[in-house]
Amino acid sequence: SDNIFSKDKFDEDVLTSHIRPQRLDDYIGQHKVKENLRIFVQAAKQRGQSLDHCLFYGPPGLGKTTLAYIIASELGVNINSTSGPVIEKAGDLAAILTNLQEGDVLFIDEIHRLHSNVEEILYPAMEDFKLDIIIGQGPAARTIKVDLQSFTLVGATTRAGLLTSPLRDRFGVIMRLEFYDEENLATIITRASRILNLKTEHAAALEIARRSRGTPRIAHRILRRVRDFADVLNNGLVDLAIAREGLLRLEIDNEGLDASDRGFLRAIIEKYEGGPVGVETLAATLSEERDTIEDVIEPYLIYKGFVKKTPRGRMATRLAYEHLHLEPRNGLT
Ligand code: ADP
Repeated sequence: SDNIFSKDKFDEDVLTSHIRPQRLDDYIGQHKVKENLRIFVQAAKQRGQSLDHCLFYGPPGLGKTTLAYIIASELGVNINSTSGPVIEKAGDLAAILTNLQEGDVLFIDEIHRLHSNVEEILYPAMEDFKLDIIIGQGPAARTIKVDLQSFTLVGATTRAGLLTSPLRDRFGVIMRLEFYDEENLATIITRASRILNLKTEHAAALEIARRSRGTPRIAHRILRRVRDFADVLNNGLVDLAIAREGLLRLEIDNEGLDASDRGFLRAIIEKYEGGPVGVETLAATLSEERDTIEDVIEPYLIYKGFVKKTPRGRMATRLAYEHLHLEPRNGLT
C-alpha cells in the first residue's frame, strides 16, 4: 500500500522482519513496560511456571507484536501467532490450543475482533488450561473436558476498552504502549540503518524521528523510502537534506502529519466550524472507516494537542488552526 500510515502491516512486516528486535535489551523505549516484563519473565522462569497472560494495547505500530515474540524468546518457548478475525470457528481455536506445548506463547493480534463463540472457548482455557468441548446437539449433547498444557496468551489490541470484560479480566498483565519520543525513535532509526547497512547521519535520523508520529513502524517506513532517494540522488548517504527531500515528497509536514491527518483537521475546521462534531459524521465526511479514525488517525492528533475529544464530539484546537495557517474563531482556546 502506498499510504504511509496504512493499517495494513503485512508487506511491512515481511520486509522488516530482520530489523525486528529479538530480545528485551534490543527493544528501545517503553521503559516501564520493558522493566516490568523483565521481572515477570524472570519470576516465571524461576518458578518453572508459564508466564501470566499478557494484554498489550495502544495504536498500531508501537511494538505489541514485537513484544509477543520477545517474550517467547526470553522464555525460550515457541510462539504460535494468529489474529482475532482469522479464527472463524471454535474448533479452529481448539485445534490451536491443543497443539501448544508446555509454556508456549499463543499470540492473538486484534484480539478484540474474536467471534464471541470462539472467545468463550478461551475463558476456561486461560483460567484452568481446560477446554470444554460440546459434542452432539439438543438433549443428547454433552460436554467433555480436555486438559491443555499451560501456556501464555499474549493479546494485542488498539484499545483495551474494546475487549469484553470477561476476556479482559482473565489477563494477569495489562500494559499500555505509549508513543515514542524523538530520542528513542532516532535510536530505532539508527539501529535499523545499521542492520540495513545504510549510512544515516544523526541529524537525518533525528529529522525522521521528529516526523514519524511517535511510531516505530512509520519511522522504519520513512527510512526505507528515504533510502531510495539517497540511493538514486545522494550516493546512498542519508543526510539531513535528503531526509527532508524524501519527507517533502511523501507529503509529511513539519509535525509529522500526512495528507489524511491534515484532511481530518480540515474537515473539522472547514466543514464543522471547528467542532464539536461526532466521529460517525467525520467518518462519513471523509469516507473513512470509523475504526481507522479512532485507531490510526486520532490518537496522535490528540496526543499532540491538535484535537480534543469532548462528550459532544471532536474539536480542533488553536494549535490545529495555527498549523494549517487558518484563522481561529473568536474565543477558541
Ligand atoms: P504493533 O504490533 O504494535 O502494530 P509491531 O510490533 O509490529 O507493532 O512493530 C512495528 C515495527 O516497529 C516492527 O518492524 C518493529 O521491528 C518495530 N518496533 C516496534 N517497537 C520497537 C522498539 N521498541 N524498538 C525497535 N523497533 C521497534
